[in-house]
Amino acid sequence: MASSGTIKHLWALDAPMLKVDKSIMILGAGGELVSLPSPSFLIEHAEHGLLIFDTGLAGAGDPASTYGPLAELFAIEFPAERALDRQLESLGFSTADVERVVISHLHFDHTGGLEHFAGAQGYIGSGELRYARTPDNHVKGFFRQEDLDAADRIDWCEVPAGYDHDVFGDGSVVVLSLPGHTPGSLGLKLRLPDGSTLVLSGDVAHIQDNISCCVGMPADSDTVGAIESLKKLKLLRSQPNTTVVVNHDIDDWNRLRANGRQVV
Ligand SMILES: [Zn+2]
Repeated sequence: MASSGTIKHLWALDAPMLKVDKSIMILGAGGELVSLPSPSFLIEHAEHGLLIFDTGLAGAGDPASTYGPLAELFAIEFPAERALDRQLESLGFSTADVERVVISHLHFDHTGGLEHFAGAQGYIGSGELRYARTPDNHVKGFFRQEDLDAADRIDWCEVPAGYDHDVFGDGSVVVLSLPGHTPGSLGLKLRLPDGSTLVLSGDVAHIQDNISCCVGMPADSDTVGAIESLKKLKLLRSQPNTTVVVNHDIDDWNRLRANGRQVV
């Protein structure tokens, strides 16, 4: 099979925004409030249609009714027009057109839109579903039961730790195994139409400093595993013609979104 395929389009959809103390994002930092996008990426492949990577939050228009005190704690900003279904409609698609969903992990700020994709083929890291149902105590609040119920309605392919999965067999979309933040954390490697490579980190990194310093965050399920995954991202970042975008990094987000939703 040829390994020289590219994606056709990439959209970084209008994201809900949160505010968190930097201590949540990297061990040893703190005392600084940082804006954090909670993005979803829509990818179009010429032959294989639409794939979405992560689904952001639920409760567009009224996040307080969905997340209660968390909405205020994280200063969640999520206007109604940023709901995934409305954004897809504005691009001329419907949620039913999305044939595949890749979830970086099951924390609530990635799973809020899973309810829209019950008919899609899912890709999830091995061990993630089990961990979400019986998480470590210090991250229990990061999983939302309604999202896990929505996850149960998706037909998941489990991507084993240590294995990177070439979704279409042409090198255009590769699911990266990046365990450590959670047992099944994933990233996504895309080959763009100009031949360059764009890596979406998922949450094993929350800011570029996680990668530069190979230091994770307090919420990681496996600190040593996270360091190994950060080393992998650092190696990828060092390759020519390759950009690693950290999903929650506000500077990366602003660069990626410099021309609006459509990246390519
Ligand atoms: Zn997370």
